[in-house]
Amino acid sequence: MKTNETGRFLSVVNPATGEEIEKVPVSTPGEIDVTVGAARRGLEEWRGVSGLERAEVFHGISRVLRENADELAGIMTREGGKPYVENHDEVGWAAACFDYYGELARDSVGYLPAPIEPQQLALVVKEPVGVVACIVPWNYPLLLAAWKLAPALAAGNAVVLKPSEETPLATRRMAELIAGLPDGLLRVLYGAGDVGDALVRHPGVDMVAFTGSQATGKKVGRAAAERLIRANLELGGKDPFIVCDDVDVEVAAQGAVWAACLNAGQVCTSAERFYVMEGVAKDFVEASREHVESLNIGDPMDEQTDIGPLINAPGRAKVERHVGEALGRGAKLIAGGERWGEKGFYYKPTILTGVEPGTAVMSEETFGPVVPVQEVSSLDEAIEMANSVPYGLGANVYTRDFENMLRCMRGLRAGTVWINDPLTDNDAAPFGGQKGSGIGRELGREGLEAFQESKHVHIDPKVEKKEWWYPYGKGDGSGQRLM
Ligand code: NAD
Repeated sequence: MKTNETGRFLSVVNPATGEEIEKVPVSTPGEIDVTVGAARRGLEEWRGVSGLERAEVFHGISRVLRENADELAGIMTREGGKPYVENHDEVGWAAACFDYYGELARDSVGYLPAPIEPQQLALVVKEPVGVVACIVPWNYPLLLAAWKLAPALAAGNAVVLKPSEETPLATRRMAELIAGLPDGLLRVLYGAGDVGDALVRHPGVDMVAFTGSQATGKKVGRAAAERLIRANLELGGKDPFIVCDDVDVEVAAQGAVWAACLNAGQVCTSAERFYVMEGVAKDFVEASREHVESLNIGDPMDEQTDIGPLINAPGRAKVERHVGEALGRGAKLIAGGERWGEKGFYYKPTILTGVEPGTAVMSEETFGPVVPVQEVSSLDEAIEMANSVPYGLGANVYTRDFENMLRCMRGLRAGTVWINDPLTDNDAAPFGGQKGSGIGRELGREGLEAFQESKHVHIDPKVEKKEWWYPYGKGDGSGQRLM
């Protein structure tokens, strides 16, 4: 196991070496109480800060993240194993998210619907939900925290953040660097699922924003439902990748390998199933094999490294199980299929062909650098296969044909459809899952609204009796009195 909770400490282990780098104290129930109480007091102070001032604080947070990107990326690389280059990008994306929501929140405080009577005024006022528990996984620790913190704080909420037990260190450093917020408004708690669960169940928490696996998401959703608090759930995926026969196969293969192997395949929107048209399948597989074999696997701190380790031993064991089962059921190994190196949790980028649709590698989240390819004879078949699993996070398509693009856009059941540019997120557009991949959206306007309550205020400036009140009879003797 990478992480052990021994006594009251999390053991943070470097996935590239398997060695412990630090022990982090686990938050106690008493600390959870104090933290939630401080968050509520911070909320009151934040209420008195104008939108303009909040935006300035947010731009300050963005600046400090960018200025410290080297340090933060280094910490993330040591605790999470993702290549330094990718972690450096992640810090920039997190900073951009604070810039975006600092400004968006200023013009998203409500709207004026048409009133019922012309002299009246109807307002819809957007208010904070209250104290929000934000619980995040280890694969993009700062980015996924920012996708919650920035809109939640911009909407006027307080946040108690719980990073993954695997990757608490970069989050701790980010919280130290963030300045300008009222005391208590943003606090971090440390621990595993029991700390997350205690937070969701705490009576001082008004909402939970969760990113993680489907299995944990169900538990969080149940705990939130018992308390009737709002739950935003961003869960796992099993994203399909469709390759049509009208494309430059070389480009599609390189895009496919990147979409499957980015962060060693440990992205919620990793491409995990490949449906390739018969006419180009052979060339696609060959181009993918050549590309995979040219990649650098190794020390994630080295800026030349393309592929780092998996997060921990159970993560790698799951990948081995999926690949082993596929091979046992007749799939052919084209590349990889084995561990790499003497230490750490590395697994070589792997390509499989002739994979049966019912195997785990084609139906369950693998979370590893695997490209399982299934040939299809038509776009209709590809779309049907793409929609055949209970996940619906993202979907990728390679085609030059505009009609194909529209068919995929309309036919694929996924929160995001990427055509010819896999895995490109946009702060200004919503991100989230259909079907079993989640409930709710992050980013864009929807990502802010997730953390806002709507209050309808109806004002009539005139104090006068309304003609539709009692008595319903018009005083002409028709109708009967009650007494
Ligand atoms: P996980 O579900 O094991 O843990 C996620 C977080 O939940 C951690 O902080 C963990 O400590 C906490 N937790 C565990 N049990 C809990 C409970 N009962 N109550 C409250 N909190 C609890 O997931 P993981 O292994 O850290 O991350 C990988 C998963 O996250 C994958 O399934 C991946 O697809 C998913 N993910 C989804 C998105 C998205 O935006 N949809 C993004 C990244 C990762």
